Amino acid sequence: MHYLSNDTIAAVATSQGTGGIAIIKISGPQAFEIVSRIFRPRHLTARGLTACDHQRLAYGHIVHPQAGVLDEVLVAVMCGPRSYTTEDVVEINCHGGAVVTQEILNLVITQGARPAEPGEFTRRAFLGGRINLAEAEAVIDLINAKTRKAARAGLQQLNNGIAQQINELQNMLMEILAEIEAYIDFDDDLEETLSISPLKQRMTSDILPVINGLISSFREGRILKEGLRLVIAGRPNVGKSSLVNRFLNQERVIVTAVPGTTRDIIEEMIDIDGLPVVVTDTAGIHRRPDPVEAIGIEKSEAAIAEADLVLFLIDGSEPLNSEDRQIYGQIKRQDHLVVQNKIDLCQGQPPPPTIEGLCTEEVVRISALTGDGLERLKEQIVLRLGLGIDPDGSRILVNLRQRKLLEAVQQHLDQACCYIGQTCEAELVAIEIKDALKAFQEILGQGVSEDVLDHIFKKFCIGK
Ligand code: GDP
Repeated sequence: MHYLSNDTIAAVATSQGTGGIAIIKISGPQAFEIVSRIFRPRHLTARGLTACDHQRLAYGHIVHPQAGVLDEVLVAVMCGPRSYTTEDVVEINCHGGAVVTQEILNLVITQGARPAEPGEFTRRAFLGGRINLAEAEAVIDLINAKTRKAARAGLQQLNNGIAQQINELQNMLMEILAEIEAYIDFDDDLEETLSISPLKQRMTSDILPVINGLISSFREGRILKEGLRLVIAGRPNVGKSSLVNRFLNQERVIVTAVPGTTRDIIEEMIDIDGLPVVVTDTAGIHRRPDPVEAIGIEKSEAAIAEADLVLFLIDGSEPLNSEDRQIYGQIKRQDHLVVQNKIDLCQGQPPPPTIEGLCTEEVVRISALTGDGLERLKEQIVLRLGLGIDPDGSRILVNLRQRKLLEAVQQHLDQACCYIGQTCEAELVAIEIKDALKAFQEILGQGVSEDVLDHIFKKFCIGK
C-alpha cells in the first residue's frame, strides 16, 4: 500500500470536554501496529490488528504498559485505501471523559504516532485522491454549519455539488480547446475549411451562463455560511430591542422605556426557516448624542452599510417625526423593509401612519409585544432577499477562493470570445482557454501550492 507520509498521525476526533464517548483517530503506516501494542482484545487471539479486520469493530481494553488498563473500548479498523484518509486508519471509541481520552491519546503518541495538525486527516484524504479540494472545503462548511439549510448546502457540496459541475464544464472546454488546436494545426492544403467562430457560441451559451449563475449564487452561499446580516434601525423607543427579543424568544437584550439605552450595537444569531440570520440592533440615532452614544451610532452606521437587509422600524402608534425621516434618509439606499411596530396600540384606528413622501414600499405591520405579524415579517425577509433559488444547495457557491477562480475563468472566456469576434487569432484564443482550464483545475485542487493548502486546512479543527 502507498502511504502519503511516513508519519502516523493521531488526534481526538470528537469535540473537547466530557461526553458519552470520544473517538481517537489514528492514520498512517503504523496505525495497526501502534494500536495492536496497546489494545487487548476480549475475543481475538493475540495476533494484533491486521487488514483482515477491515471494517470490523473489536471490543477490548486499552492497556498502558505500566499503569495497566486505561479504558474499556471498541476499536474500528479501516484498511487503506478504503478509509477516509486512504491510509490505514484505526479509531478507538473510548469513554468520553476528558482525562481518559487524553491518557489514551498520550499513550498512542508515546507508541510512535505524532499529534495531527488541524485538518490533517482531510488533507491526507485530498492528497490520497479520495476527495478534491472543493469537497475538502465543503467538509469545513458542513462542520461549521449553524442551521439546517447551511448544513444541507455543505453536504450537497461534499456530494459532488460544485465539483461535478466544474468537471462537466471542464470537459466541454477541453473539447473546444481540442477543436481550436485542430484548427491551428490545420493543413491549408486540405479542401475543407475550418472556422472557430461557432465555438464562441458554445462558450457563450453552454459554459458562461453556468459560470455566471454560480458566481451570482455566491451571495446566497455567503448568507448560508456566515448568516444574513439583518440590521434593525429606527429611532429610540420604536421597539427595536423588543423585536430582537421576539426573534430570539427570550429576554437577552435589556428592554426599557427610556429612549437611547441601547447604547451599542447588539448582535444575535437566529434561525429563520433554516436560514442563519445575524440580527443587529442598532443604537438609537440622535442628533445630539453624548460621547458614549456617538460611538454606538458610528457602529450602527457601519452595520447599516454592510447589511444584507435593513428593517426600518417605525412606531405605528405615533405620527412619523423628523427623526424617523432622518434615519430613513440614511437607510433608503440600502435593501430595506419598512416595519410598522406597535400595531396593538392602533386597534380601531385607521393606520398606517403617514408615510407619504417617505417610502412607497409595502409596510409590514407587526407588534413586537404580542408577536402579531412576526411570521409575515419572516416571510418578507426571505422573499425580499430572493433566497431559496436552489433548495438543495448543490448549485450554490459558498467559497470565496472558488468564486475568485470562477471569476478568472469568466474573464479568460470573455477574452477568448472577444478574440474570436475580432480577429479570429486562434493562438490567442487557445491561450485564454488554457488559462481558464488552469483555474478550473485549481478549484478542484490540481496544481495548488502548499501555501494555499496550508491556508485552507488550517481552518479545520484538529481531528478532522
Ligand atoms: P428601542 O429603543 O427601539 O430598542 O425600543 P424598546 O424595544 O426598548 O421598546 C421601547 C418601549 O416600547 C418598551 O416599553 C416596549 O415594551 C415598548 N414596545 C415595544 N414594542 C411594542 C409593541 O409592539 N407594542 C407595544 N404596545 N409596546 C411596545
